[in-house]
Amino acid sequence: MDDHPTESFHLTGKAALITGGNGGIGLGMAEGLALAGAAVAVAGRDADKNAAAVAKLTKLGARAISISADLTNEQSCRAMVGQAAHQLGRLDILVNNAGINVRKAPQDYSLEEWHRVLDSNLTSAFVASQAAYVHMREAGGGKILNVGSMMSIFGASFVAPYGASKGGIVQLTRALACAWAKDNIQVNAVLPGWIDTALTRRARGEVAGLHERVVARTPAGRWGTPEDMAGIAVFLCSAAANFITGTAIPVDGGYSVQGV
Ligand code: NDP
Repeated sequence: MDDHPTESFHLTGKAALITGGNGGIGLGMAEGLALAGAAVAVAGRDADKNAAAVAKLTKLGARAISISADLTNEQSCRAMVGQAAHQLGRLDILVNNAGINVRKAPQDYSLEEWHRVLDSNLTSAFVASQAAYVHMREAGGGKILNVGSMMSIFGASFVAPYGASKGGIVQLTRALACAWAKDNIQVNAVLPGWIDTALTRRARGEVAGLHERVVARTPAGRWGTPEDMAGIAVFLCSAAANFITGTAIPVDGGYSVQGV
């Protein structure tokens, strides 16, 4: 046990890579990790968003870099992990957060759309975790945090590939947790409720009444913010969570426990 009970929550000296860390939930979690003392690499496709995120994280006093990567491309995904480890000098934390959604009725998806969602949300997490494993094993341990969704638990009429990817993220988390516990690598998932980001702003444009339904269905009575995701990321990526692995923790204002 460390001298002070909060000592084990600190991330000073750790290096973290957050996919999709240039905006939304990813940036909320990156800010949390940065404030806890980690050096942070954010990865995404959009150069302007990458630069803005680095500026924001640097302003918090963190060492921050960005990596341009398309996670649907295996080589790009592996190169991203190598670059993060090389530029930050180590890799202790991987947050598999990048994700997309394509909303339509199941019968209307093309196979290209199906694969695009699965590749972005699930295959990328597997490939990045495989690439990160080598660095974490060599360092004697690490933390992988996967981002699921309420659609890891529930269904909806317009999320066939998204729901499949987010259900898969939970099972991938459990499999990696079992396999890599012996290497002192803890693998967990967070399941965000409805969080106000670019992704869900688009959803509100496409799904009639979504905003009101979310507020009514969430016991907390509001949408979440990216900042609401920071604390859980810090906790699960810190030594305070060294005996927690394979879990999928909702961060949802009570959405997933509302019975009526
Ligand atoms: P945003 O659209 O704000 O962010 C998505 C991020 O993923 C962006 O940073 C984007 O960067 C990155 N990204 C997407 N595709 C790729 C790709 N092929 N290569 C590299 N980066 C990519 O969405 P959110 O912040 O809302 O979502 C983040 C995660 O949280 C997703 O996995 C989502 O499914 C999940 N989630 C969100 C919820 C919500 O209510 N908002 C609820 C539950 C889960 P760039 O555009 O630069 O490529």
